[in-house]
Amino acid sequence: MRQQIDGYTRLCGLIGNPVEHTMSPAIHNTLAEGEGRNLVYVPFHVERENLGRAIEGAYGLNVLGLNVTVPYKGEVIPFLKEIDRMAERIGAVNTLVRTDGGFKGYNTDMMGLYRAMRSENISIEGEEIILLGAGGAARAVAFMCASRGAARVWILNRTPEKAEAVAEEVNTQQGRECLVPMGMEDYVRLPGDRRYLAIQATSIGLYPKVDEAVIQDRDFYKKIHTGFDLIYRPSTTRFMTLVRESGGRAFHGLKMLLYQGVIAYELWNGISVSEEEALAVYAGMKEAMGIEE
Ligand code: NAP
Repeated sequence: MRQQIDGYTRLCGLIGNPVEHTMSPAIHNTLAEGEGRNLVYVPFHVERENLGRAIEGAYGLNVLGLNVTVPYKGEVIPFLKEIDRMAERIGAVNTLVRTDGGFKGYNTDMMGLYRAMRSENISIEGEEIILLGAGGAARAVAFMCASRGAARVWILNRTPEKAEAVAEEVNTQQGRECLVPMGMEDYVRLPGDRRYLAIQATSIGLYPKVDEAVIQDRDFYKKIHTGFDLIYRPSTTRFMTLVRESGGRAFHGLKMLLYQGVIAYELWNGISVSEEEALAVYAGMKEAMGIEE
């Protein structure tokens, strides 16, 4: 049963545009209810010209924390008092934590992906990884893989210059040639003597264009032992189907969404959420989306 809202209720929320289809309130309000914590989480639809006022206003209203979604993950940075080092390198912030004098920005998308992978027993350390895409999410994935000890990340993108830019930044920051940039059609040049973990971070395959995959060639999928798609709508993407049909394991991005939220909740409240609590929230998310597996 929902806790009564009273003079002690703490407020957290999400700012973005649009925010109407978000699953984040289900994550945070379920966690708060489960803990008996007097906290509510509300989505706020914010127009671009109001972004600065929204953040200042939230601080003035004693808001405990905010999530930030598209299109403001980069634009929010000038309005922060402080930014976590990794979030600064990634250039994107999805979580604001109240501190003395202003909000501090973090990127829990990246930490969320790592925790989602760990929960599925997918390792990064020492792995040969194919990263499809070089947009905002892929950039965070590239930093995560490199900082978590991937042997090599082959980053493939339709616009190769973007893959090159991400590779240069990550390699410079890591002090090793971990990322190898390529065009998307260059997958045929990937060394064929090994099998890869593939992370799908393009927007291809997203509902309603569910029959699309950024690479359709079945020979490509024979190289993959595990495929992780950041997309979770649909819960079985064409990419995942192609991986499975070639004998690999495949996962959708809903657990990444879960853990980016769980980590934000932990930062706001200074606590650790147990795996059991997180998986209970996940069961509710899957039910809401009609996912059975
Ligand atoms: P983004 O910055 O817009 O990047 C889009 C990426 O898709 C770019 O690499 C882009 O290539 C590629 N792309 C778009 N249209 C293409 C086409 N027709 N052919 C080939 N490549 C194409 O988006 P993002 O923020 O990185 O998000 C990417 C995906 O990750 C989205 O589906 C999003 O829903 C998902 N995501 C999931 C989570 C989660 O919690 N599970 C979190 C964040 C993001 P170019 O550079 O060539 O344009």
